[in-house]
Amino acid sequence: MKDNTCDIAIIGSGLTGMSAAIAVYSKNPDLKIKLFGIPFDSNTAKKGEIENIPGFDKVVGVDLIQKVTEQLGKLNSESAQKVVQEMNDQQDSHKVDLSDSLALLDESSSILSISDNVKTVNQLETGFEVLTDEDTYTAKIIILSTGLPELKNTIKGEENFVHKGVSHCAVCDGALFRGRKAVIIGTGNFIARGALFLRKYCRKITVLCPDAELGCDKRFLKKIEATSNIKTNYNIKLENVEIIGTNVAQGVKFTKEGEEKEISTDVVFIELKDKPDLKYLQNFDLKVDDKGHIHTSENNTTNISGMFAAGTIRGEIDYAPVLIGDGYKTGIYAVEYLEK
Ligand SMILES: Cc1cc2nc3c(=O)[nH]c(=O)nc-3n(C[C@H](O)[C@H](O)[C@H](O)COP(=O)(O)OP(=O)(O)OC[C@H]3O[C@@H](n4cnc5c(N)ncnc54)[C@H](O)[C@@H]3O)c2cc1C
Repeated sequence: MKDNTCDIAIIGSGLTGMSAAIAVYSKNPDLKIKLFGIPFDSNTAKKGEIENIPGFDKVVGVDLIQKVTEQLGKLNSESAQKVVQEMNDQQDSHKVDLSDSLALLDESSSILSISDNVKTVNQLETGFEVLTDEDTYTAKIIILSTGLPELKNTIKGEENFVHKGVSHCAVCDGALFRGRKAVIIGTGNFIARGALFLRKYCRKITVLCPDAELGCDKRFLKKIEATSNIKTNYNIKLENVEIIGTNVAQGVKFTKEGEEKEISTDVVFIELKDKPDLKYLQNFDLKVDDKGHIHTSENNTTNISGMFAAGTIRGEIDYAPVLIGDGYKTGIYAVEYLEK
């Protein structure tokens, strides 16, 4: 029979959430974890190469996510085998074969992935109720790791030209615009990496940055400054940016230092991050900071007893190694909390 109860529900299965699951399993393999969300929908899976992970020069994001999901699968079969072994030891006459029963595998898994988005979380006397469109689950404690969603439809004209010269991912679609002109809108490492990626394909790249500086790593900035076909514009008010064209995007209007500008382009990449989407937590009076990040204590606990938050959702630095560590330590704190 399907068991919808667990000790720890981890909501969000990007690098942060999956690291938390590994930590919980390592600390106490007897605990039941349910991991909600789609790993291949995470930022890491969708956005090209990840640098800086100790031990790897560079790793393709989707390969890294694939490896982590495989690792979770191995931990699961390890725990399932242990349960089967225990059952066999108890009932010598009737041997259970692991391959006999997928249901048994599900039941005895320590980490069960549920590829549904969580719609609502409710408080129960004994913990929490987690609702998806498909089912209802209960958990003693919760780890939130749903990251930051993309900010869409904030630029005038954006909605009209999606797939007609507007894209939300430079590294996914950039190669389609070989020899063309591109505009990329946003700030930080993602935009710097995106612009440097595009220089391999596009003949001219214009960056429209809403901030006074790109706020990216110096190694990226140096490369951008040394690349003649990347032109960077700072302090661009996004509300004054407009994508123009007839059937497809053909240009961008914006204001720079009070002066109206219009440039022609074949594609506009928009990669802006929103604040955390906490709609599924509307039944809680969750404390957030002025940027909408979940406020946490030293141990990554939120102001709701038994609810933890990890990664960019709590404003953590958006670097893969940091997020792996943050997810991992949250997993450990969660087990310690449960064992108390
Ligand atoms: C272009 C780009 C380049 C990068 N390059 C580097 C780099 O070189 N080096 C580096 O260190 N870092 C890099 N990063 C940063 C890093 O890889 C990611 O931003 C980081 O992995 C974010 O992890 P996360 O787990 O917090 O969030 P996410 O990856 O966003 O994962 C959140 C998960 O939660 C799920 N989710 C959301 N809402 C729900 C819900 N209601 N219910 C269930 N699931 C839900 C999502 O589907 C997703 O799977 C890069 C990021 C980008 C975008």
